[in-house]
Amino acid sequence: MSEPLVIVGNGMAAMRLVEELSARALGRFAIAVVGEEPRLAYNRVLLSSVLAREVAHDEIELKPAAWWRARGVTLLYGHRVTGIDADIHRVWLAGGATLPYARLVLATGSRPIRLGVPGMDLPGVMTFRDLGDVAAIEAAATKHTKAVVIGGGLLGLEAAYGLARAGAEVAVVHLMDRLMERQLDARAAAMLEQELKARGIVVHLEAETAAIRGASRVEAVALKDGRDLAADLVVVAAGIRPNVDLARAAALDIGRGIMVDDHMQTSKAGIHAIGECAEHRGICYGLVEPAYEQARVLAAHLTGEAARYDGSVLATNLKVSGVSVFSAGDFLGAPGTEQIVLSDAGLRSYKKLVIANGRLVGAVLFGDTADGLWYLDLIRSGASIETFRDDIVFGRALAERATVKTLAA
Ligand SMILES: Cc1cc2nc3c(=O)[nH]c(=O)nc-3n(C[C@H](O)[C@H](O)[C@H](O)COP(=O)(O)OP(=O)(O)OC[C@H]3O[C@@H](n4cnc5c(N)ncnc54)[C@H](O)[C@@H]3O)c2cc1C
Repeated sequence: MSEPLVIVGNGMAAMRLVEELSARALGRFAIAVVGEEPRLAYNRVLLSSVLAREVAHDEIELKPAAWWRARGVTLLYGHRVTGIDADIHRVWLAGGATLPYARLVLATGSRPIRLGVPGMDLPGVMTFRDLGDVAAIEAAATKHTKAVVIGGGLLGLEAAYGLARAGAEVAVVHLMDRLMERQLDARAAAMLEQELKARGIVVHLEAETAAIRGASRVEAVALKDGRDLAADLVVVAAGIRPNVDLARAAALDIGRGIMVDDHMQTSKAGIHAIGECAEHRGICYGLVEPAYEQARVLAAHLTGEAARYDGSVLATNLKVSGVSVFSAGDFLGAPGTEQIVLSDAGLRSYKKLVIANGRLVGAVLFGDTADGLWYLDLIRSGASIETFRDDIVFGRALAERATVKTLAA
């Protein structure tokens, strides 16, 4: 008989887990997926492209309903799980229904951080996490709307770009001294700022929000330095926090996220966590690739294969058309590392590669990002780059030609 396996959350990690499990052992588990969002799982990464009107709302579904049916999955979307009883192996749904499980997987993702400043609840203040948020931003952003985006990280900049494409007058307020400081060094960040300015986006760095003001709806963002930025619409993109409420109420160990071991096992037997809600070796990842790796490891583990999750090397691309940015690994360069830099201001192109012990450990690319995935593979594999070190910065084609010559000589 199939063992009942319940997945909480119908996001990207959940879909990948079902895919990995059914590829390995179709029918071994009777899978139920319970998701709060009232739709099939979709590609959240593409929400920025939806907001920028480059992709339609209905084009981002990850798999059609028939795909789920073919795998025998019971899909309960539009349903929230409200409780877990780990003693009797059951989950509670809003409305009172319950589901039994032999294995429970929490894939509840994250939620946007809300700022602790006055005015956060005013109408016109929004976040950017799901399709509902995108619909609300689209409805509010018309031509000449004054929009302020709080947060100059990946999400904030993609929101700013989408709003600018809709004709809004956009300002970005960022706490740090450079944009995307978690992915870019100072030089790449300065180049990015120039590109955004060229698209009409105003950037305020080292700017801290003191309050969001308005009588019946948002009218301005007040900064701590005394400036007021007029706003008809505010998008808060100031970071995310793992969704851990269910796990906490069930007395699972929680750090920032739901703590898991190398098999994505939580502190309670039979309960696993993957994706953005999970914390592995002190790290909560906010990207999809680690969620997919975790889903693969968990599927392998649940079907009896030997597999272990050792953590992920992070890589990011910014989805602002015409601005290619790629960053991976130790892009700043820890003490003791060496750097190769190639910069061409005329071509608005910049490449920095970080090397340690004859291996590539980090990269930042601005402008020409065509070799990003090759650099990422080199970082992940930890392969020696000594035979093509002289050419590595010029990209894969040249470096590989150089290696062939070296080997032939
Ligand atoms: C605009 C945007 C752009 C992004 N761009 C990139 C990018 O370029 N590259 C990248 O790697 N990552 C990107 N990300 C991040 C990426 O989307 C996430 O890392 C990924 O979706 C994580 O998958 P997940 O399954 O852990 O969480 P999610 O996809 O968030 O899924 C979690 C689901 O669980 C549901 N849920 C939560 N609690 C409950 C409950 N109690 N009951 C039922 N359901 C529940 C939620 O409603 C949600 O649908 C982006 C994110 C956003 C918002």
